Amino acid sequence: MPMDAPGDAVPEAPFDWTDAEARRRAAAGLVRTLRPRPADADLLDLASNDYLGLTRHPEVTGAAAGAARRWGAGSTGSRLVTGSTALHAELERELAAFCGFEAALVFSSGYAANLAVLTALGTRGSLLVSDADNHASIVDGCRLSRAETAVVPHADPQAVRKTLGAHPGRRALVVSDSVFSVDGDAAPLGALAGACREHGAALVVDDAHGLGVLGEGGRGALAAAGLAGAPDVVATATLSKSLGSQGGAVLGPARVVEHLVNAARTFIFDTGLAPASAGAALAALRLLRREPDLAGRARAVAATLHARLTAAGLTAVRPDAAVVSVRAPSPEQALRWAADCRAEGVAVGCFRPPSVPDGVSRLRLTARADLDGEQIDRAVAVVLRTAPSC
Ligand code: PMP
Repeated sequence: MPMDAPGDAVPEAPFDWTDAEARRRAAAGLVRTLRPRPADADLLDLASNDYLGLTRHPEVTGAAAGAARRWGAGSTGSRLVTGSTALHAELERELAAFCGFEAALVFSSGYAANLAVLTALGTRGSLLVSDADNHASIVDGCRLSRAETAVVPHADPQAVRKTLGAHPGRRALVVSDSVFSVDGDAAPLGALAGACREHGAALVVDDAHGLGVLGEGGRGALAAAGLAGAPDVVATATLSKSLGSQGGAVLGPARVVEHLVNAARTFIFDTGLAPASAGAALAALRLLRREPDLAGRARAVAATLHARLTAAGLTAVRPDAAVVSVRAPSPEQALRWAADCRAEGVAVGCFRPPSVPDGVSRLRLTARADLDGEQIDRAVAVVLRTAPSC
């Protein structure tokens, strides 16, 4: 039979469809490109998540180097085989004590920590109630779990209460970012905990953007809300933002941590956190304990950036932590605005769909505790000078 006989579909070559996807992205102005960050660029950094400016602190980099020399460049295996060192145990002990939880467990990333909690605690038949603006790692954790997921409107404890009330007697977890990564607004943790307690549900909070920035001395959003160490609360965190390192953690009751060690696939089947990362995070944590003003300084810089930009007419969300989200008129203008800032020596983040499902593009500026007055003045001047006319 000839190949082009009626009814015979011409098979497409493997991956041809990605060209069509690329054309669609280009037409929508949504192409993403990787650009290596120069090691010692003369760029003022308002794009990273290095909120306390610790990633290049000599004590932190020195601890990373020392840990690699002592334990090796890699952890050599999964945590339950050869991937746990004394450094991992020390970090878990000190992190739990600092944040006010009974126990902690360290992962190779915050992403893996969220997947662990949601898949190991979101058992078949249980209910996950997830904020519509939660981070992608929470969305993926919900998808991977055997639980049913109900997505509720952003920062809406009443919707959470209603959803839990519609499933009486069901094992349930309510999950929320503490500080939302794009807009920088904080979740109503007290009200969410209240809704959970009315219905016997547990609360899971991703404190990626709260640890080191919120709470007394940077003990995090759960400490700030008086929820740290509660028997019905679990927190996740990343070591890659305020702590300037890499990796993730879960904090909670010892029996929950014990369950994760035995049941969480991203703990059991993943190579343990690299010793250098564990050492760097531990050094940063000790620095934070020694310098409790760092957290307040990061928040104050964010408040100043927000006040100055909005006073000049830009629209920005009032920051609850270190993230300042500034509205852009369109994805293309957001991209050009970020590029213009960069050309003038200031690195800022740019969020466009599909990272922001509401379709609103933004510049994302991150405050750092170590920015001085001159640097803040320069950043504000550049963002304003390059702003598209709205
Ligand atoms: N949760 C939130 C809210 C985040 O912003 C991030 C990182 N962007 C993560 C989890 C993932 O953490 P990690 O980068 O350590 O995997």
